[in-house]
Amino acid sequence: MPIKSRIRSIPDYPKKGILFRDITTLIKDPVGFRLVIDNLTQHYLLNGVDFDVIVGIEARGFIIGGALSYTLGKGFVPVRKPGKLPADVVSQEYELEYGTDKIEIHVDALKPGQKVLLVDDLLATGGTALAAAALVEKVGGVVAEMAFIVNLPDIGGERKILEKGYSVYSLTDFE
Ligand code: 5GP
Repeated sequence: MPIKSRIRSIPDYPKKGILFRDITTLIKDPVGFRLVIDNLTQHYLLNGVDFDVIVGIEARGFIIGGALSYTLGKGFVPVRKPGKLPADVVSQEYELEYGTDKIEIHVDALKPGQKVLLVDDLLATGGTALAAAALVEKVGGVVAEMAFIVNLPDIGGERKILEKGYSVYSLTDFE
């Protein structure tokens, strides 16, 4: 598959036993980057998911979400690591394998009831995406769908997200 074959796999990153799927090799290739954005654009032009704005998760979600906002003519809202957003924020903590992490969104990022396409590069446990969905809801938005380049179905994030009633779309899977 032209997208999957451009993704590099790095053993033992960021720690021993993890096989990291590196999308930098996909997006540095102009054909690869175009394939990603064109595929997502076609999907959202054709499949009738109704949304008003794209919310991208720092940092790789900005690359995909920014380009997709442009092709689909939607605005872009960043979800960022703590301390990076300048105005008033709400925060959401989420579990990591060891410890917790936190992400933030501007309190006034969304209008009440605004429908959101949530975008990140990769779905693993689903912890990051579910925390971002919680942020969207805390500031009054509604998650219409979550989109990723890569899904790792064996890790179980997709199942968890579907069980919570969200809709997921991804371009490729790695077992
Ligand atoms: P999750 O919260 O679903 O366990 O992990 C997904 C988040 O961690 C995403 O923000 C994603 O960028 C990052 N991530 C985790 N594993 C990988 C990986 O193998 N490759 C890439 N590119 N990102 C990963």
